[in-house]
Amino acid sequence: MKKYVPEPFRIKMVEPIKMTTREEREEALKKAHYNMFNVKANMVYIDCLTDSGTNAMSDDQWSGVMKGDEAYAGGESYFKLLEAGRDIFDYEFIQPVHQGRAAEKVVFPILLGEGKYAISNMFFDTTRAHVELAGARAIDCVVEEAKDPSKIAPFKGNMDVEKMERLINELGPENVGLIVMTITNNSAGGQPVSIENLKQVYEVAKKYNILVDIDAARFAENAYFIKMREEKYKDASIEEIIKECFKYADMFTMSAKKDAILNIGGLIGVKEDAEFFQLVKGNCISYEGFVTYGGLSGRDLEAMAIGLYEGINEDYLAYRIGQMEYLASQLDDAGIPYQKPVGGHGIFLDAKAILPNIPYYEFPAQSLAVELYREAGIRSTDIGSYMLGNDPDTGEQIESEFEFTRLAIPRRVYTQAHLDVIAEAVKNVKERADEIKGLKIKWEPPVLRHFQAHLEPIE
Ligand SMILES: *Cc1c(COP(=O)(O)O)cnc(C)c1O
Repeated sequence: MKKYVPEPFRIKMVEPIKMTTREEREEALKKAHYNMFNVKANMVYIDCLTDSGTNAMSDDQWSGVMKGDEAYAGGESYFKLLEAGRDIFDYEFIQPVHQGRAAEKVVFPILLGEGKYAISNMFFDTTRAHVELAGARAIDCVVEEAKDPSKIAPFKGNMDVEKMERLINELGPENVGLIVMTITNNSAGGQPVSIENLKQVYEVAKKYNILVDIDAARFAENAYFIKMREEKYKDASIEEIIKECFKYADMFTMSAKKDAILNIGGLIGVKEDAEFFQLVKGNCISYEGFVTYGGLSGRDLEAMAIGLYEGINEDYLAYRIGQMEYLASQLDDAGIPYQKPVGGHGIFLDAKAILPNIPYYEFPAQSLAVELYREAGIRSTDIGSYMLGNDPDTGEQIESEFEFTRLAIPRRVYTQAHLDVIAEAVKNVKERADEIKGLKIKWEPPVLRHFQAHLEPIE
């Protein structure tokens, strides 16, 4: 088993969590119609639904909250954030927005429209939605090895560059409005992208005169993986690695609810094109608010300026990635399959392999999520056929390539003992895998059903 990397912080404030009984959890599941999004948070012991906005802020960030400048225009917190953004990314233009999808909504319509395409190593769901809302089509082009959960490779988040170039030629370079590099690759299991890959993608993009956007939600975790796994950068600092990564793009869109260790926030960066940034500011004013607050309060801007630096601290990152590796090694010892090697923000359990008796149309990953809650009050989420939904033309359930149950780990929130509880619960559930039944849908809304659908156990 891997050693736990001790926390580079101590606890100054605590939030009690309710300890529930199995009977109470059974009742909560029934009330929630077996949909984890409907379970009340105060009935959850360890909440691994997402790592987005669920972070614990530091004492520095909280004191920043008190100092936030709430001026409508030209507030001090705004300038502090600009300075941090320019310093960390080496980009000339920085624009705050209220979260990641707001950055996408501001930027994408400038570059995309009817008949255009955007290509990504893998689009996050809201990113794909904003490409499509802008009238364009979104195409994923991740390396093949990302699709085999048991295959160990250092950079399973990478773009398949050859396939991307072929696609550009097939679609016509003039029709490709944007290339989006998601670092780390969230949908592939928080898998990192190498600098070598970013560089190759950028070179091809320049050859065809296509702009590159970094979807930067987990840029710091990605930088740490580069330091650990990309030989050439093993002696570089995290700061240097980040600057090197962002050289190979023209802009970034970022959810600051992840690596900036915030509860809400987003950021846009533009490397040097002042004319383009003018358009970004225009859309920001229409959709988000005046440029010096971008849909956030001054206190959020202040907390982001501080959190951006805390998120790139190497000791913090060693602890953060260390938590994932610790949990993963416990699962290895018990022979539990997951997307390997473990990614930056959580464990993606391979529910197809853990619950082989449950077919895709009875939702193995959702069944495993329900069972983990029943077992120990742990909340996780389905990333599989249940999330994918029905074919819009035939109404038939689509079979997903993966059936993942995602345990996303919030930043600086849970301790080693909490991780032990998670590992033990997964082991216990796996031991009685053949008793676990699938689920069927009782009611579903027409789109994004997994947030709202009602399910029931198959007897
Ligand atoms: C979370 C996320 C987004 C969207 O950000 P929100 O802050 O949730 O709007 C976009 N891309 C990636 C890779 C993300 O993880």
